Amino acid sequence: MEEQLRKSDTLNVIGQLAAGIAHEIRNPMTALKGFIQLLEDSFKEEHSMYFSVITTELNRIDSIINEFLILAKPQAVMFVEKDVAKIMQETVDLLSAQAVLHNVQFNMVLGNEIPSIYCEPNQLKKVFINIIKNAIEVMPTGGIITIIMKETDDHKVHISIRDEGSGIPDEKLKRLGEPFYTTKERGTGLGLMVTYKIVEEHEGNIQVESELGVGTTFNIYLPLKKGNK
Ligand code: ADP
Ligand code: MG
Repeated sequence: MEEQLRKSDTLNVIGQLAAGIAHEIRNPMTALKGFIQLLEDSFKEEHSMYFSVITTELNRIDSIINEFLILAKPQAVMFVEKDVAKIMQETVDLLSAQAVLHNVQFNMVLGNEIPSIYCEPNQLKKVFINIIKNAIEVMPTGGIITIIMKETDDHKVHISIRDEGSGIPDEKLKRLGEPFYTTKERGTGLGLMVTYKIVEEHEGNIQVESELGVGTTFNIYLPLKKGNK
């Protein structure tokens, strides 16, 4: 619990900082992209390598800014009643091309009649995307991602997303969700931070179980009804 509180304080400070910085970076980025596009038209032939590096790096900056803008969003997001299984199905459809490319298959076990939950569907989709993307990335030679959804006895929806990847050592488990914590060469280390933040805004929580060489399971618990605040 203490760990959870500490994380959320850090996130609030970062969120406020991010609001300013992300917006400030966006405008010069747009200008840069425009002018590089113009340069590319004239110099693509001689320097195609340079342009491909520039484009990759600009896209990387873009994705970092986008993650931060999610954190920076004002707290008053629109919550609606929505079928969470449907949101998951849409997410899996969205990622199916990437999954096929990595030889990854989905095994979906959706409990029947999961009641709707109050949520911000696009934010929740972001949560699922971030976790599933990590699952795909951790299985370089392919594997199965098992997604199970069921209603718990204490009126929550339990969504578990399990991969067959390398697993996470115990001492690293507590670093998940820390800004910029990544073990990937091209990672941003922002995906899980955003994920934790969104789940927290839904008054839910996440528990991670992992076994080295076997795989990792992300358990997300979301309340069926948002508490009156
Ligand atoms: P990124 O994917 O950019 O590295 P994330 O915040 O999404 O950033 O994840 C942070 C780190 O958590 C990853 O670099 C990886 O070390 C670890 N991680 C996340 N999901 C998994 C998983 N399913 N299996 C193993 N490690 C994971
Ligand atoms: Mg990630």
